[in-house]
Amino acid sequence: MDVMDFEDVLAAYEPVMGLEVHVELNTVSKMFCGCSTAFGAEPNTQVCPICLGLPGSLPVINGKAVESAIRIGLALNCQIASWCRMARKNYFYPDMPKDYQISQYDEPIAFDGYLDVEVDGETFRVDVERAHMEEDTGKSLHVGGATGRIQGADYSLLDYNRAGVPLIEIVTRPITGAGEKAPQVARAYVAALREILRGLDVSDVRMEQGSLRCDANVSLMPRGAAVFGTRTETKNVNSLRSVEGAVRYEMCRQGAVLSEGGTVRQETRHWNEAEGFTTPGRSKETAEDYRYFPEPDLVPIAPDAAWVEELRATLPEPPAERLARVTKEWGFTDLEMRDVLGAGAIGVIDQTVAAGATPQAARKWWLGELVRRANEAGVELAEVGMTPAQVAELQRLVEGGTINDKLARQVIDGVLAGEGDPEQVVATRGLSVVSDEGALSAAVEAAIAANPGVADKVRAGKVQAAGALIGAVMKEMKGQADAARVRELVLEKLS
Ligand SMILES: [Zn+2]
Repeated sequence: MDVMDFEDVLAAYEPVMGLEVHVELNTVSKMFCGCSTAFGAEPNTQVCPICLGLPGSLPVINGKAVESAIRIGLALNCQIASWCRMARKNYFYPDMPKDYQISQYDEPIAFDGYLDVEVDGETFRVDVERAHMEEDTGKSLHVGGATGRIQGADYSLLDYNRAGVPLIEIVTRPITGAGEKAPQVARAYVAALREILRGLDVSDVRMEQGSLRCDANVSLMPRGAAVFGTRTETKNVNSLRSVEGAVRYEMCRQGAVLSEGGTVRQETRHWNEAEGFTTPGRSKETAEDYRYFPEPDLVPIAPDAAWVEELRATLPEPPAERLARVTKEWGFTDLEMRDVLGAGAIGVIDQTVAAGATPQAARKWWLGELVRRANEAGVELAEVGMTPAQVAELQRLVEGGTINDKLARQVIDGVLAGEGDPEQVVATRGLSVVSDEGALSAAVEAAIAANPGVADKVRAGKVQAAGALIGAVMKEMKGQADAARVRELVLEKLS
């Protein structure tokens, strides 16, 4: 595929982006029925006549999903509709057994908001056009082909467990003026949105499990032009890195098409995560193709103004305010703070401090061991598999002398392997430091006896030489000793 150099694209064209983010809510039951929404169950075990769209079944809206939708709207500085309806979006697709999806069309529950995002110290305001409610579709699994795609597959299987799971779709207005930073702005927007959703506790926001999915619309217009170019929509870009990569790639691909005198086809495209490019999908339907009309089986939604204000009072601290607060409270150096921001660790450190750890200790664990393990696993820090409460517990065990830093790393191994909380891991793996003075004393004496030359040097006043003896004891105790106490004992016995 022909692509243009990124710098050359910017010299000739202005990128315009639109981001659509689908968020699966973490409600216990589905949007219009009582079926479970739990992830990972046996296919087609969480279904009923309503979410299978069987004739005669009638939907009932999930109140908790409406509440979450309103809270999301408020957190994105949106207006909340005082009256709105669900709509039928008609299309035939095997993963939507009713042949229509219940969504919202011209009456979204939340509209006209914004989210400020920061890129390299510069703030970009991303306008949010709307946040609307809808139901998720089922999942198709294409079997027998090389790619997992329908092309070349022998047959397809359908799993309706996901059909009817509550979704919120958050749609931005066209994002212009970002220029060379467009790919980074897209990434920063999705990252900031995810942080807000996590703070609201309305979704698992796990991009790799699909509970947060981003579609990136990208177009180019010649510099100085007033009319947007034709856009493409890259679907289901499921990591932050891919959001940035997909926007950048589409800019370069479209730049090549336009500069050779071609036209960009309006279509959906697929992001190839492994290879870092997009491939064409189906040509894009327009709203007319869906024949929207108000859903006749559901009553309108008219949230009471007092209820909306009650929900507003439940919103967590906005990210910008939280950043200002923790910058003051934690007392980190500028460099430390930059590292924390770079690792996306503000939220987890804040929660770890709230769970009782000092800011320095929280930073040490998250930016040391846990960042490394998150990178190895290719996941975000908050998804590494250890919670802020567990990190605070780990630090308590270190401060209380139950374990040392070296053992703490083994405790982290255990927690990440699903062996339970730090205390359980210490108990089941037998990791606590040896506090039996008799055993320590015997190990120290054995080390002195085995290294008479070193012992003589320490006796002669070369205290640095004690390191070799301490090392021997720690090795003998398999790391499960308090090194400071061992040092004391060595010096005591040789003084
Ligand atoms: Zn159901």
